[in-house]
Amino acid sequence: MAHLSEAAIRDVVTEVLSKIQSANGAPVSAPAVQSKPGRHGVFDSAAEAARAAQGGFEQLLKAGWAGRAKVVEIVKTMCFDNAERWGRIEFEETKIGRLDHKIGKLHGIRNVLGTEYLVPTGMSGDAGITMEESAPWGVIGAITPVTHSIPTIAGNIVNMVAAGNAIVVNPHPGGAACAALAVHEFNEAIAAETGIRNLICTVEKPTLDSFNELCAAHEVALLCITGGPAVVDAAMKTGKRAICAGPGNPPVVVDDCHALDFDKVARDIIFGGGFDNNLLCIGEKQIIAVGDSYSKTLDALKRQGAVILTKAQTEAIKKEVFDIKDGGGGCSHAVLNRAYVGADPAKLAAIAGLSIDPKVEMLIAETEEDDVFVDEEQMMPLLPIVRAGCFPDAVRIAKDSEHNYRHSAMVHTMNVAHLTMMGREMDTTLYVKNGPCTAGLGMGGEGYISFSIATTTGEGITTPRTFTRFRRCTLVDQLNIV
Ligand code: NAD
Repeated sequence: MAHLSEAAIRDVVTEVLSKIQSANGAPVSAPAVQSKPGRHGVFDSAAEAARAAQGGFEQLLKAGWAGRAKVVEIVKTMCFDNAERWGRIEFEETKIGRLDHKIGKLHGIRNVLGTEYLVPTGMSGDAGITMEESAPWGVIGAITPVTHSIPTIAGNIVNMVAAGNAIVVNPHPGGAACAALAVHEFNEAIAAETGIRNLICTVEKPTLDSFNELCAAHEVALLCITGGPAVVDAAMKTGKRAICAGPGNPPVVVDDCHALDFDKVARDIIFGGGFDNNLLCIGEKQIIAVGDSYSKTLDALKRQGAVILTKAQTEAIKKEVFDIKDGGGGCSHAVLNRAYVGADPAKLAAIAGLSIDPKVEMLIAETEEDDVFVDEEQMMPLLPIVRAGCFPDAVRIAKDSEHNYRHSAMVHTMNVAHLTMMGREMDTTLYVKNGPCTAGLGMGGEGYISFSIATTTGEGITTPRTFTRFRRCTLVDQLNIV
């Protein structure tokens, strides 16, 4: 006798129940989907995860605003309390970036916006009253990057659950184990405190097939994509609405400005570009310095602990970290060697036979504007510096290097006309003036944080409102009591 799998039996039961329902017209609820034994919210398939999350969504609906707020509080508290342990687990699995900054990112989840951001709008007049409210979508499919696996999931949960949704994650395979661990622990705590099960689900072994299965699942009403160009393209082709936090290649322009403190400029660039070994999508990726500021910036970078590479050292590293392929017709294109993404500066320097202090946070390469380090989103603590003749020329180079991703750009100048001109030209989602990139996400600047910055589709730094449907409710001629 042939044996049926657990999933096949479940499908048969579901079909029989739905036939009974259509026969007598009575509503019959589908059987609850079980996660893997001892792994709350962790599933073998995206289809099962989506079905379970639908159940989680329905339970959250019943728990109301108080339930949403409780989940947000649980997730924020757990990220803070477990930052050291989870940061280490993620670091050991992905082997990229810096442990101290992985911990810092989890601490930062406190500053993700929650239920407080969803304020209804009321209108009252001679014709009655109208309310406008932000309603949930239901189940959201979230695709998360290897560069910040747990922080992106946690930030997405805070935003999405505050808005009343459940979530299914298809994480990057390189960060899937830590994602499953965090999802399991979040669910366990949420179930213990609220009774809601499977509010956050994940696929244990994510693949391109599980991505397709998740996008096709009828329970999934909306997608949130955080990643590079390929996944953004793939999501846009699914036919589902997708909020896309896509790639960037942020330039930082240093103006030829007497009023600048170049040591502060250097510290800001090293901090922003060096954060988590330059894994941040908002991180400074190339420096463009105008006129005399070129040598002043280089000198200050050296004083602040960066190592300036020789031309030969730069070329040796370039050959190893990029695979430069001849595209024919005199064109070439570079493919990033993923083994060096988020690598320590000492590991990069060693390629060129250079031994440096492990405390060094940044390598600097003097290059031309058409260099591959300027053109590509290298995601490693090596920044090219390019000389520009004047400020408009610097902005032109910056704009070319950003590839119209409209992601992020930074500038250091006290010239208000230059600040304004660059902001208009770049047209980026984040524009940080006189600070490190991180100031644009509320770390050292005003504002809140999210690890999903919807650049490609234009929603910007995601908030709970990003994950809602706008609804209006009108009562005619009544309850306008004034
Ligand atoms: P990645 O594009 O390799 O992977 C991101 C996610 O997409 C992963 O879950 C991966 O498994 C999946 N994926 C990749 N290609 C796919 C395809 N063809 N079909 C389906 N799924 C696919 O990116 P990464 O290395 O994990 O992260 C770095 C990239 O993400 C950078 O480009 C960075 O700028 C970007 N990023 C953007 C933001 C933002 O908020 N805008 C935040 C973090 C990272």
